[in-house]
Amino acid sequence: MSKVLVIGAGGVGSVAVHKMAMNADIFPDITLASRRKFKCDAVAESVLARTGVTINTAEVDADHIDATAALIRDIGATHVVNLALPYQDLTIMEACLSTGAHYMDTANYEPRDEAKFEYHWQWAYHDRFKDAGLMALLGSGFDPGVTSVFTTWLKKHHFDRIDTLDILDCNGGDHGQHFATNFNPEINIREVTAVARHWENGDWVETPPMSVKQQFDFEAVGEKTMYLMYHEEIESLKTHLPEIKRIRFWMTFGEAYITHLNVLQNVGMTRIDPVIYEGREIIPLQFLKAVLPEPSSLGETTKGKTNIGVIATGLAKDGTEKTLYLYNICDHEDAFAETGNQAVSYTTGVPAMIGAAMMVTNTWVGDGVFNMEQMDPDPFMEMLNQHGLPWQVKELDGPLEF
Ligand code: NDP
Repeated sequence: MSKVLVIGAGGVGSVAVHKMAMNADIFPDITLASRRKFKCDAVAESVLARTGVTINTAEVDADHIDATAALIRDIGATHVVNLALPYQDLTIMEACLSTGAHYMDTANYEPRDEAKFEYHWQWAYHDRFKDAGLMALLGSGFDPGVTSVFTTWLKKHHFDRIDTLDILDCNGGDHGQHFATNFNPEINIREVTAVARHWENGDWVETPPMSVKQQFDFEAVGEKTMYLMYHEEIESLKTHLPEIKRIRFWMTFGEAYITHLNVLQNVGMTRIDPVIYEGREIIPLQFLKAVLPEPSSLGETTKGKTNIGVIATGLAKDGTEKTLYLYNICDHEDAFAETGNQAVSYTTGVPAMIGAAMMVTNTWVGDGVFNMEQMDPDPFMEMLNQHGLPWQVKELDGPLEF
């Protein structure tokens, strides 16, 4: 019998654990552990009230391999679902290797002192996981995660060859706050302020952060400004689907968000190098996180929808050139009603549950470290439809004009 240990009791962890409890036949034994146990207990209370399922809770500092390994051993976890922060990826992978547990996460490892989003640290674990007969599944959120599954599903069912791929992430939700981020503020701001990179003709093309923008009319949301950004799935997709000549990632931001971010950047509050304050070192971005609203607190007030998907152009199976748009629309208020969390946590937590389900049921198997696009997309796509993230596909007249 599988025993799942989820690490991280933020918005994403909360949704994933609620959805696991709603699928107790797949997840008969769930433990939620995090840096502060009271957050796990609050999630456990909500899970019990909403689903009638009791989950176990524990405290762990996953920065420490030994402490994490001891917890895995203690509860006999067969699978560890890492929904803490990207900083903990490698320590949790080490703990899995030392205890013989399978591993899954939703975000690639990042060193604390450098905002670098690269898979090489985690890909370097492939042989160790392979030799141990264990599976590590990387990036089972929405983006990365569902966007890669969307791409392989299009390839499997519609295209002989994909030439260009655009990933479009639109959050049309309004949380009523002057400035807040929809997932961990530190990770979000590191991502948004990084140099934009996309993949074109076998090379990275760099542009200054938030310097390239376009308008796009998103179904159920309306016209929004979206910005070219770097996102980690570009690296794994260009590696595993090398035929794709151009891969770009776009994310929408409102004017208020951009204005606040510019000011915070201009005054140095987004810095990740230490500064001395009253005799001790602090990291300005970490201090900023402490004064911003917690993403998990935004659910109650957030209204509107998200629309995230991929647009692929290439040689279709019928021999013609086609452009297909595959996307999901998720409603913030519906997500909150079901799990007590807003749609950004929901659209990440549901695929985290599904990725874990793929592993626990041995639907996706493999020894080593894998990205989502290396797996058969069909069973995952089916579960998206069944568990709250229905998708649709439509043909566009042609590729994006920009
Ligand atoms: P939150 O900040 O809300 O939650 C993170 C949780 O991890 C907190 O409960 C935190 O504890 C806990 N944590 C932090 N450090 C440690 C540690 N050393 N040991 C144990 N627990 C720890 O973040 P989110 O829920 O919004 O995001 C979770 C993850 O999901 C992040 O890695 C994020 O990058 C990723 N993500 C992925 C997306 C995708 O589509 N692929 C989209 C959105 C997010 P405490 O509360 O005590 O600080």
